[in-house]
Amino acid sequence: MSSGIDEAFASDALTESVRRLCADFPAEYWRTADEQHRFPVEFRQAVADAGYLGVAMPEAYGGSGLGIREAALILKAIAGSGAGASGTSAVHMNIFGLHPVVAAGTEDQKARFLPPIISGEHHACFAVTEPNSGLDTGKLETVARRDGDRYLITGRKIWISTAQIASHMLIVARTGGEGLKGLSLFYAPLDRSKVEIREIDKMGRAAVDSNMLFIENLEVPVENRIGAEGDGFRILLHGLNPERILVAAGCIGLGLAALEKATVYAREREVFGRPIGANQGVAHPLAEAWAKLEAADALMMRAAALYDSGQPCGPQANAAKYMAAEASFAACEAAVLTLGGMGYAREYDVERLFRESMIGRIAPVSRQMILNFIAEKVLDLPRSY
Ligand SMILES: Cc1cc2nc3c(=O)[nH]c(=O)nc-3n(C[C@H](O)[C@H](O)[C@H](O)COP(=O)(O)OP(=O)(O)OC[C@H]3O[C@@H](n4cnc5c(N)ncnc54)[C@H](O)[C@@H]3O)c2cc1C
Repeated sequence: MSSGIDEAFASDALTESVRRLCADFPAEYWRTADEQHRFPVEFRQAVADAGYLGVAMPEAYGGSGLGIREAALILKAIAGSGAGASGTSAVHMNIFGLHPVVAAGTEDQKARFLPPIISGEHHACFAVTEPNSGLDTGKLETVARRDGDRYLITGRKIWISTAQIASHMLIVARTGGEGLKGLSLFYAPLDRSKVEIREIDKMGRAAVDSNMLFIENLEVPVENRIGAEGDGFRILLHGLNPERILVAAGCIGLGLAALEKATVYAREREVFGRPIGANQGVAHPLAEAWAKLEAADALMMRAAALYDSGQPCGPQANAAKYMAAEASFAACEAAVLTLGGMGYAREYDVERLFRESMIGRIAPVSRQMILNFIAEKVLDLPRSY
């Protein structure tokens, strides 16, 4: 990695050790996983073996008890290694996905669910989005019907990432009543005899699957309901800000990875008798991309510091996710254009990162909904939807 880009990463021991781990998973590994739609199992195991999955989990259950800042550094370094969104998405759910259990689970639930997630023995997917409701979560249709000491869940979910390899599913379903107050949260074993899982063929991040789920009477014991009936959305809210911070961290790493590949190429490729990077038309878009990534990184770290010190961070976390996703996309676009024709060739990896850079602009929340949030909550403008 070049020295200028190096500085955009906090130069601490954690980042360095994650980079060392990622060095065993070079660009060819991620290129092949993407081409073959193959989940990066070895990588996920290596991250688990190094103890990083539990970075932000409580020490009492085998985690390290550190903050969102440390989790963000790990995800930024993973994406920045060239693993991109395939790398971060392979471990994101283990690192952070069970935050609702930490925040609202009983001692018994924490003791049962957290240790196998931290060790990597279990893998959970997160099932919120549905085909008919989109971002309007209050319109979710999947139903959880109480039947003695269990619930039976029936409905459809869409875009559920990692369901192909998941052992469990954190799922939001309606237990009664309309709107957000009718929703409850469950941690369900992913019983494939009750859930049909169909992979969606998508633009990028093919190593990590996203799926349509058809759920028919999936059994969940009552003791696997997280929080009270009707509290599901309120519990999820706890995790939204840290999730945005971690997605921002991944976007920044991904953008830096693309920038690194572009600057190496721009120094080496000679046309008209000199390196193409000597042309300001090539150098300036890369310099601008670095500036935007650095600004997004500062905002992301500020949001993480606010969250870790127990202060409100909604505006900063949302703005960080927005800025990071846009900066990442801009960096990837500049990288593809810097490589010219080779930018379009799979062999040079920037096209893979470019495809992956779209995800942060769409999920887990779209650009428009972030701007809606800032307009309403920060600028006190009328709610527009
Ligand atoms: C690769 C990938 C992985 C994903 N993984 C998961 C997962 O693991 N689990 C999960 O539950 N979901 C997952 N998702 C789903 C993701 O969270 C949603 O796609 C995202 O929240 C957008 O919802 P939607 O697609 O239903 O868009 P829609 O709600 O249909 O919206 C479509 C467009 O209209 C815009 N729009 C809608 N309403 C308004 C408004 N009032 N004002 C302005 N603009 C508006 C939106 O911003 C968006 O651009 C994933 C998506 C992708 C692409």
